[in-house]
Amino acid sequence: MNLVFEHVTLGQRVLFGSGKAAEHLAAEVSRLGAQRVMVIASEFERPMAGQVAAGIDPVLWQTDVVMHVPVETAEKARAAAAGHNVDLLVCVGGGSTTGLAKAVALTSGIPIVAVPTTYAGSEATNVWGLTEAARKTTGVDDRVLPATVIYDAELTLSLPVDLSVASGLNGMAHCIDSLWAPRADPINAALAAEGIRALSQGLPAVKADPAGLDGREQALYGCYLAAVAFASAGSGIHHKICHVLGGTFNLPHAQTHATVLPYVLAFNAPAAPQAAARIAAAFGAADALEGLQHLRQVLDAPRALADYGFTAEDIPEAVRIALDAIPASNPRPVTAENLTALLTAALTGEDPKTLTDL
Ligand code: NAD
Repeated sequence: MNLVFEHVTLGQRVLFGSGKAAEHLAAEVSRLGAQRVMVIASEFERPMAGQVAAGIDPVLWQTDVVMHVPVETAEKARAAAAGHNVDLLVCVGGGSTTGLAKAVALTSGIPIVAVPTTYAGSEATNVWGLTEAARKTTGVDDRVLPATVIYDAELTLSLPVDLSVASGLNGMAHCIDSLWAPRADPINAALAAEGIRALSQGLPAVKADPAGLDGREQALYGCYLAAVAFASAGSGIHHKICHVLGGTFNLPHAQTHATVLPYVLAFNAPAAPQAAARIAAAFGAADALEGLQHLRQVLDAPRALADYGFTAEDIPEAVRIALDAIPASNPRPVTAENLTALLTAALTGEDPKTLTDL
């Protein structure tokens, strides 16, 4: 069979090293010749960001960070950056903080150095998101891709185990969904498979020893690969469903991804045997779903959407909105009926195997 594909690798510098964030940031600010740095970090993340920024002299601190980046929050940060002639944005925090830096970069073109402290992966994508009047809009623009990412696993030590598990499975979802997303290709599939391997080893180590660095480093490395694969392959069915659950029903981001993933895998795997074989091999399991479920059991992962405020009454609207967004290229044709079955099973945490019949 001919191998024919078109692939784009996004240009980004990555500096990885535990305990090295402050040193790496100072070197990067100097290398980029930045004179007027704005540091973005939520109030909660501010002490961590203070340590990371110890070797630089920011002109401005922006701590007004809100999940899903409301337009008003973005406008305030944009005005502050313009008012201080900022020439570099440094964000230290989770996906919400990175998201605010991206919102500023989107309209100003100011480069970003991202220092992530969760496993969300936004730092490795050119995808931005903004929320206006309770509706989340996303888009793709290379101006929001951070110029540099600085990974330091010590910054993730404070992330509680349950949030580490949910956030890490959000990364796992980037990997798995990449294998059938609209621009899936052999390069992003290779990154996704290595991401699954790293996460399936790193996350149990984080759970067993939350204060240890080995598992945290593996998880961070795996989540970077996951996000690169996702940025390249695009959003598949899993991301489209979770986007609706988060955007319209305000369900928490990482926990929603962690809960929905086995249902999407069970749903798609029979119609995507090559992807399923790749996932199984990356888990070191005989079967893709078995591999994921074994990991989820070890991690005591989130299991039912009902636990996060989703209800049976919400399903018809979620199905209606998601059906419009799910790519037509999804390996298994999606209908209102089978999507209702998927969400109904995910609502209560029913065994996903019930979805495998084509
Ligand atoms: P988040 O940034 O909202 O962080 C969750 C919570 O963890 C917050 O309270 C935060 O203060 C806290 N936190 C962060 N780092 C911590 C640490 N080291 N120790 C203890 N607590 C810490 O959530 P998230 O899951 O990181 O990101 C979710 C957001 O990112 C969503 O808005 C999602 O849409 C977006 N996202 C975007 C992309 C993209 O490509 N654009 C990719 C993934 C996620």
